[in-house]
Amino acid sequence: MSMNNDDYPSSFIQTIINNDIKAGKNGGRVHTRFPPEPNGYLHIGHAKSICLNFGTAARNGGVCNLRFDDTNPTKEEIEFVESIKADVRWLGFDWEDRLYYASDYFEQLFDYAVQLIKLGKAYVCDLNAEEIKEYRGTLTQPGKESPYRDRPVKESLELFNQMRAGEFADGTRVLRARIDMASPNLNMRDPVLYRILREIHHRTGDEWCIYPMYDYAHPLSDYIERITHSLCTLEFEDHRPLYDWILESLGLENRPQQIEFARLNLTHTVMSKRILRELVEKNFVNGWDDPRMPTISGLRRRGVGPKAIRDFCERIGVAKSNSTVDVALLEHCIREDLNMRAGRVMAVLRPLKVVIENYPEGVVEELEADNNPENPAMGSRKIPFSRELYIEQEDFMEDPPKKFFRLSPGKEVRLKHAYIIKCEQVIKDPITNEVAELHCTYDPDTLSGMAGSTRKVKGTLHWVSAPHAVKATVRLYNHLFQSENPGEGELGYQDEINPESLEVLDSCWLEPGLKQATLEDRYQFLRQGYFALDPIESHQDSLVLNRIVSLRDSWVRAQKSGA
Ligand code: ATP
Ligand code: MG
Repeated sequence: MSMNNDDYPSSFIQTIINNDIKAGKNGGRVHTRFPPEPNGYLHIGHAKSICLNFGTAARNGGVCNLRFDDTNPTKEEIEFVESIKADVRWLGFDWEDRLYYASDYFEQLFDYAVQLIKLGKAYVCDLNAEEIKEYRGTLTQPGKESPYRDRPVKESLELFNQMRAGEFADGTRVLRARIDMASPNLNMRDPVLYRILREIHHRTGDEWCIYPMYDYAHPLSDYIERITHSLCTLEFEDHRPLYDWILESLGLENRPQQIEFARLNLTHTVMSKRILRELVEKNFVNGWDDPRMPTISGLRRRGVGPKAIRDFCERIGVAKSNSTVDVALLEHCIREDLNMRAGRVMAVLRPLKVVIENYPEGVVEELEADNNPENPAMGSRKIPFSRELYIEQEDFMEDPPKKFFRLSPGKEVRLKHAYIIKCEQVIKDPITNEVAELHCTYDPDTLSGMAGSTRKVKGTLHWVSAPHAVKATVRLYNHLFQSENPGEGELGYQDEINPESLEVLDSCWLEPGLKQATLEDRYQFLRQGYFALDPIESHQDSLVLNRIVSLRDSWVRAQKSGA
């Protein structure tokens, strides 16, 4: 039942699965799950887990469930459930009819807890949270047994039922596993399995006032769904003995196997849900889908495609030790995805007016421009050329240094897809004395692509025809955090936020074809980067575009220089 695995880079997880299949474990089945807690929006780290879980199942002829780990009603909301479903789907994965909620198993989980009590493997403990912590001991000191540890099974059973019936106040009693207070693994020192908590749950309402702990609910949810390989992040390695203990103690057969992998960390990025939530709540960003956020919804809004994210997850692979991936690799994958499909167009972000003095007034030429030299199948389009144009302010210098090959007084440049022009006169604003306009002449014998247009000049500039151009607002993004590893140095993450993470340019001029741009279209603005319409704020009569990524590929550069 396994597909050919040769196309995929192998991983230690695939090795385990290959061995399991060979040994006939689980009848050769591979069944995984992605288990988000609905307490925030998914981020690029979750994407790694999604790609790994769905990908591992797919390449081994298996299936993957989507399961909401909704055991903690204080922090969970339906908004998050919906966003998570949308994000997983958008990433290109399909859970088919296998959408589950840990809360669907509350009754079963309760029954299993009753069994554990009957087996003498769980007990109701009357210590409060503080006392439990005190009794727990430390890494160097064993814990102390609870005075309630040896209470009769019958008494625990009764108390547990009373807990469920709402007879005790929140926090006054818990159900604990009876394992070993002297275990070197703190997770095994009689961990709490159930707590009393009067909270309305987004699915079960007020039906329950006791809730299972994650460490208890997770292995059993995996078991109930017949998961074979339970892939989770490294911080759960020390919880694995408890995962196994719960299933073994209940005498369950065909148990799922927990396998840990390293979490994704990215430079210049925070991945903690708590911090992401704070960024939103304290208005450091404009919502979970702010294009500067590492959330799936932020990346999507920015214009990143799902293929780029899947490709990135494939390239980083899975390992058993934590490391930090250079965000430049993600950007590289985004460029690779866009390169072949993004139409090349011209857009002037900081305009400077140019008047071609020897070009007749009222005349408009439609010039041929290829849409993507990397992908000739994308064809070409016509762009208007006229007497008045815009070029980029930074493409002109009145008093340039030696190697400035752009426009300056008396110098020539080529306008992309058009003519060679020469700067004849600089018009200044009489009040500010800033350059307001350039008067140029053009050489009619130098039209790009025409016979006789062989004259060469060093610089080529992008431009748009002023009377035809479409006005737009363009947003440029930089890393949200200045430091490479935000939150890890002396400063709190708030002090490391990049004050220049967002630059809004509100009088940009685009070539007229962009009036027809749709939300699906991706563009490369020549020399400026890749852009897409903002799906929320862009409207037909006021275009707003996001820069998805610049053109400078620091990943490729670093690889070439061996860094
Ligand atoms: P929390 O601290 O709220 O539990 P979490 O990031 O673990 O945050 P979950 O919703 O529990 O969030 O995560 C769902 C799944 O995604 C888990 O299996 C988790 O291990 C995995 N995951 C979360 N963050 C990353 C990451 N940075 N890299 C890889 N996998 C991750
Ligand atoms: Mg978690």
